Amino acid sequence: MNVLFIGSSSVGPRWIMDALKSKCHNAHGIFTGYEGISLGENAVPFFPPVKDKYLKDKGVGIVGITVDSLNVENALLISKNIKSNNPGIKIIWGGIHPSISPEECIGYPEIDYICMGEGEYPMLELCEALDKIKINGGHNEDTVIKNIWSKKDGSIFKNELRDYVDINTVEFDRSNIYYNGIFTGRGCAGNCTFCCSPYLKKTMESKGRYFRKRELKKVINEIKNMIKSNNQYLLSQLMRKDSLAGKARLLLEIYKYNTSPVRIKDDSFCLDKEWLYEFNSSFSKHFKRRGYICSARVNDITEKVVKSLKEGNCRMIILGFESGDEHYRNKILNKYVSDAEIYKAAKMLRDAGIPILGQWMIGMPGETPAQAVKSLKMSLEVGDIPQVHIATPFPKTKMMDYAIELGLIPPDYKLSVSSIYQDYTMVPAESSSIFRLIYNAFKINSQPLALKNKETIFDRFYNEVNNKKIGEILLKDIQIS
Ligand code: SF4
Repeated sequence: MNVLFIGSSSVGPRWIMDALKSKCHNAHGIFTGYEGISLGENAVPFFPPVKDKYLKDKGVGIVGITVDSLNVENALLISKNIKSNNPGIKIIWGGIHPSISPEECIGYPEIDYICMGEGEYPMLELCEALDKIKINGGHNEDTVIKNIWSKKDGSIFKNELRDYVDINTVEFDRSNIYYNGIFTGRGCAGNCTFCCSPYLKKTMESKGRYFRKRELKKVINEIKNMIKSNNQYLLSQLMRKDSLAGKARLLLEIYKYNTSPVRIKDDSFCLDKEWLYEFNSSFSKHFKRRGYICSARVNDITEKVVKSLKEGNCRMIILGFESGDEHYRNKILNKYVSDAEIYKAAKMLRDAGIPILGQWMIGMPGETPAQAVKSLKMSLEVGDIPQVHIATPFPKTKMMDYAIELGLIPPDYKLSVSSIYQDYTMVPAESSSIFRLIYNAFKINSQPLALKNKETIFDRFYNEVNNKKIGEILLKDIQIS
């Protein structure tokens, strides 16, 4: 079977591609957003060009599209374009949106299948079923695959979910990409109300362990292969350049890549402590000079963990603080971490010389400007490099339930988040200007350390607030320490 995967910055299909290739299927990918990755994927419009000629030349039998709640409309448009000119090509949607909203997704006329949860083995079985149907004239083999819902002759076949995959039986396909990310495991221990993971965990409750770690040896080998294949990719680009300036740019890129840290993509990298200690001891032997960037939950930062991170040359850690207001953070967002724990973790990391990239949200349902200012204040005090996001409640999250409860989103909202984002705002009109100021102050605070001076940022913020004659009362009891 010839399979084409389409996605924007999505790495999920890379695991599936490897599973398919290992069983002699042909898997191609059109992905955007891989280039120049250091802290995360570049944001690019989800509109990869899919030409009919390409589909015909490759003999594509099935197209898999990764769909998250932000790109439903675009995924639908791409599906319609493919289907209208190539009715024989099957289309399957996978990823987060079909997993949380299967009825909606299978209901679109252009969609033949949806895959819920992890896709390696379901997709492999689907390709084998489609091959059987084509070669032996079978009929319903594609309607009985666990994790896959299929649509045939006007009927929808809803199959049950299978257990979580043993992640040591699958690999990440690194052919023809330049991607500096690595997954050392899957799953997390969090229960955050703004994230879809808790919902997915709930639907898979009886299907094994959500949080899984890969064998250390496999991870170390994959990092070696990743560095090798990324360099091969860059060198192949260098060979293609004719101009001296082009070659010089590529050489600089190669230098930059080889001095940049590995990006570990796990949600909770520090959760399994014993694994972490072994990893850092091994990583430091193989890649000490390069170092890495990882994400962790504040709850997992202990003295011993920090020591271990230092040993492995962790060059930056990403922590999701989200809110500087303890009540909002714990009662509304379910982060279960106190102010004291945040300050303690930040101090340990600062003392060890590990920079923190802090994740923050503002404009959350029911959040007051004073609560948002507390986030700015905490960011300045913990000394992080903040990344601030404007909150958007995602379908099937508790944050969405809360937004509905507050009357900010109607209960019959359309599941696609882009429409939620366009049509509704979580911030009341009267405080939108102060939220904008807080957002801007966060942005200034995210500039390189040399330019940062927390008093200046806060003074500037106060001045702007006063000049604009808004928010003085809200801010009067918030002092910078
Ligand atoms: S820790 Fe991360 S992945 Fe887990 S629920 Fe919270 S936000 Fe989601």
